[in-house]
Amino acid sequence: MLDASTVATKKIYYDDPYAVTFVARVVSFEDGDLVLDQTAFFPEEGGQNPDRGILADCSVADVKIKKGFIHHYLKPSEGEAMPDLKEGDLVTGTIDWDHRFSNMQQHSGEHLFSGIAHTLYGCENVGFHLSDKEVTVDFDRFLTDEELLLIEQRVNEAIAHNVESRVEILNGREAEEAEYRSKLALTKDVRVVSFPGYDACACCAPHVKRTGEIGLLKVVRAIKWRTGIRVTLLCGGRAMALFDRDHEILTRTAQYLTTSVEGVYGQVVKMKEELAALKAQLRAQAILSMRRKVAAVESGGGNAVIFETEVETEAARDAVNVLVEKKSGYCGVFIGTDGTGYRYIIGKRGGDARVLNNLLKTRFGARGGGQAAMVQGSVSCTGDEVRALFEEIGE
Ligand SMILES: [Zn+2]
Repeated sequence: MLDASTVATKKIYYDDPYAVTFVARVVSFEDGDLVLDQTAFFPEEGGQNPDRGILADCSVADVKIKKGFIHHYLKPSEGEAMPDLKEGDLVTGTIDWDHRFSNMQQHSGEHLFSGIAHTLYGCENVGFHLSDKEVTVDFDRFLTDEELLLIEQRVNEAIAHNVESRVEILNGREAEEAEYRSKLALTKDVRVVSFPGYDACACCAPHVKRTGEIGLLKVVRAIKWRTGIRVTLLCGGRAMALFDRDHEILTRTAQYLTTSVEGVYGQVVKMKEELAALKAQLRAQAILSMRRKVAAVESGGGNAVIFETEVETEAARDAVNVLVEKKSGYCGVFIGTDGTGYRYIIGKRGGDARVLNNLLKTRFGARGGGQAAMVQGSVSCTGDEVRALFEEIGE
């Protein structure tokens, strides 16, 4: 085992972020935890997820950096075996380039976004996370939709300008004098990654050589976060995949509505308004229809019960309200069938509808409740049983 205080794993991705395959010597290997003298695998660091890939013909499940040493955690996938390695052996490694390049695109896009946001609006990037799905960036100041759009436009201009990135290692004094973001009280050498004209930032990750490789950047979400804002970004292939998905959904919706993509929103608004008007019309008709039934009930003493297969609760309640003005006894509307059971509303003018409700509960296990003037519930019994109960209870 080499001494961690004097030796650390050489980071191939510092000198060549495009290195995919490499050969390295084993420093230690224990329980699938492989440390090499050098590696092209970027570990989980600075909010970015680690590289994936293969080492000694075995899948790498995770990569972490501890005290300067990069640990590769091997986990054989189907058809693979845990390699038999000892100190000094040479191994070949290959990183998952598609995954890495996407990370380089997302990460470099984030640099441009944060740098331009800083230049235009003076906000500081105070949080960064790069997952396999998206990038989130936290800023200490809120940004309006217009501001976000302007930053996004400037980033895409920077991408089109195809600016070449620059990496410099500044020693303590140089770092003190230089202008860059993420300036911490660092005593050791600082790795500063620049996209001249747009951004300079202390960073440990691999970046694209030229901004054109980012392809495009899209802000997909922005939410208030503490005193500032959390912005979600997509770059390159991920942004294109989102565009493909949304375009497909919109095109299909437009075809379904027999309109253009531009016409979808107006059409949906119109349909929603029409639907609301139709629902209101149906409600009014249901109330009217129930009132006709109530009108057919003879006024005076005694109880009254009306059965309906299906009617909205609003119309049923209205019917009970009108019915209690005509009849002095219990007035009920039962909605349903003998097979499915009934929803019900029962009212009593100047009396207690809960008495009949309690009877429905004890006889048929009904569920429900309410005030003395009106109760509401559901019950599994037949219409004949309900009618018999209304006769039996009297007024
Ligand atoms: Zn970076």
